[in-house]
Amino acid sequence: MEQIKLIDLPYALEALEPVISAETIAIHHGKHLQTYVNNLLKLLPGSGFEGAALEDIVKQSTGGIFNNAGQILNHNMYFLQLRAPKADNRPQGKLAAAIDKQFGSFEAFKEEFSAKAAGLFGSGWAWLSADDGGNLVLSQEANAANPVVKGLKPLLTIDVWEHAYYVDYRNRRPEYIAAFWQIVDWDVVEQRFA
Ligand code: MN
Repeated sequence: MEQIKLIDLPYALEALEPVISAETIAIHHGKHLQTYVNNLLKLLPGSGFEGAALEDIVKQSTGGIFNNAGQILNHNMYFLQLRAPKADNRPQGKLAAAIDKQFGSFEAFKEEFSAKAAGLFGSGWAWLSADDGGNLVLSQEANAANPVVKGLKPLLTIDVWEHAYYVDYRNRRPEYIAAFWQIVDWDVVEQRFA
């Protein structure tokens, strides 16, 4: 039975600086994500989803349970795929080859993904996922949605809710997106693809 709880971060609050500040991570993880966890734990009793795996709740629920479970799944994937900034940060191996094949080059992929993230109206997430055939798919998901609902395997995501970047970048979402590439832990993304 999967326990619904706040994930521990595998890095210190300041580890992602200067791309994302310790203040942003403290609020984003300790307040926003904690609130989604608290809300879901209040909604689960009597819902029929007690003891269900988080991903199954996201696939099968609606309303408040979906919104909070979706945000927990999204944030867990986001926070666990980040690490300290690295210059010339790029994928290796099978994922790098799949990106080259699908998008032409890593640089072309970054441009397309960044455009999805920048162009998402309102609150939500941009995603790289894989379909059943191993093809890579880019999508925009509004609010709490996750590509698992469409039967895709989510690999990489960026949170473009304002709370993810407003402390550090104010309204300049494209600057946050451009800096984000330095802190992607491609080893984690590669493991999700394998
Ligand atoms: Mn968020």
